[in-house]
Amino acid sequence: MNIANWLHDTQRRDPQRPALFDGTRQTADYATFAAHARQRAACLVDQYGLGPGDAVAVLMKNSGDYLELLYAIWWMGAVAVPINAKLHPTEAAWIATNAEARLIFTDGGRVFASRDLPTGCKELDGHVLPPTRPWPTLEHPVPRQDSDLAWLFYTSGTTGRSKGVMLSHGNLMAMSLCYPTDVDPVSGDDAVVYAAPMSHGAGLYNFIHVRCGARHVVPASGGFDAAELFGLAAELGNVSLFAAPTMVKRMVEQARRQGYTGEGIKTVVYGGGPMYLADLREALDTFGPRFVQIYGQGESPMTISVLPRALIADRQRPDWATLAASVGHAQSCVEIRILDAEHQPVPTGERGEIAVRGATVMQGYWRNPHACEQALVDGWLLTGDIGFLDPAGYLTLTDRSKDVIITGGSNVYPREVEEVLALHPEVFEVCVVGEPDAQWGESVVAFVVTRSGQALDDAELTAWFLERMASFKKPKKYLFRDELPKNSYGKILKTDLRQLLKAGSIAAVR
Ligand code: AMP
Repeated sequence: MNIANWLHDTQRRDPQRPALFDGTRQTADYATFAAHARQRAACLVDQYGLGPGDAVAVLMKNSGDYLELLYAIWWMGAVAVPINAKLHPTEAAWIATNAEARLIFTDGGRVFASRDLPTGCKELDGHVLPPTRPWPTLEHPVPRQDSDLAWLFYTSGTTGRSKGVMLSHGNLMAMSLCYPTDVDPVSGDDAVVYAAPMSHGAGLYNFIHVRCGARHVVPASGGFDAAELFGLAAELGNVSLFAAPTMVKRMVEQARRQGYTGEGIKTVVYGGGPMYLADLREALDTFGPRFVQIYGQGESPMTISVLPRALIADRQRPDWATLAASVGHAQSCVEIRILDAEHQPVPTGERGEIAVRGATVMQGYWRNPHACEQALVDGWLLTGDIGFLDPAGYLTLTDRSKDVIITGGSNVYPREVEEVLALHPEVFEVCVVGEPDAQWGESVVAFVVTRSGQALDDAELTAWFLERMASFKKPKKYLFRDELPKNSYGKILKTDLRQLLKAGSIAAVR
């Protein structure tokens, strides 16, 4: 089934139900939301000659138009390729090329020089609503199979290049149906606030809220501002949102400053990175029982495990600290196993790689059979995360086998940062790791060995970096060394560098 049927069904049943909001201002009811999606779908077919299976990229900040575009793409059977709006245009162009996008929607339609885009790919302003045209074949969303692609989800790879995770209509439906079953019941009175980019987790939560006829709210600032969020919640009521743990931390700080205690917030679903117990305690003290944790990854979107609200809130339980530090138990449509290096299950309580099987697991990586073979083994998705299961089925994440750095809820892959710095003529060797950071969760730190043996100017390296890559990936700190620690194979020992940072022995390093 085409997941756009959910929008079609809701607008038939409840055309006047409020749908899209810019801040507290309603911009569309469900009838208008669906009419605009259909209008845009007709334009894709009629004016640009697109058909089912064609890829359409969206590189835009959060907006109601973004949601209309996504549903337009699905309505006529095409595949959406949402791209993180914070990426550098050259990174975004690489994704559009890899996805073989036929169109790319941007804010304003003038982000790219046409030579940067793949041949035949056209850039359009996503905020322009095309004129209505009669297109009777699009009265209903075009039929799609559950296995047909709906969303190419680009996640960074340790090779430094993004991989396109192939999510089908069936994957997205399974993910969405797990939400009310495992995470939080949804009603038409709810308001989902998109405080994080729609191209990722926050956007994936649109489906179940469309299905249930809830309100979709984009903060007027376009992003995450805790004070603004509290104002929205107080005015709109029944607000739910997905937030990275670092966002929860900022919410707590702001709430304490202004004496806010969570009025109007129904649920904060947190995940995407570790939530430290001390922070969770403070969040509960400030906001009460409003939290649910999820663990997932692009390859099984938002849906591996869940730590339910009641458990998080029950601090009287003797095992609370242990369970609250876990990522909960498997969501309804997946099973979890812990595997050893030979991909054999390990006994309960032992650590190994977390593997997942079930209806949310991706169809594979787009045009990347090699990565696919490595990630999908005998029907199991190897997550690259290390953890263990307890006898009751609670999963604890202990490490990430990938070296991804999660800063402010965004993933930064060290390898791609290293590649940019290594291009600098004065840089001999470089290694990038994450350092625990009270505000951002982790921050990016680059260890650098220069050719001359002299430290370089931080500002110069930063300028070099910003010419080539998105600002959120730039190192917050450069530490110059005479050499980097290596094992006998010549491999740089990242763990030693992390230890060095932890031990705070940096003064001696520079
Ligand atoms: P992404 O594919 O960008 O969503 O990143 C997924 C990765 O984020 C996972 O493989 C984990 O390493 C990490 N992650 C996701 N959820 C959690 C969580 N609840 N706690 C700790 N780490 C998480």
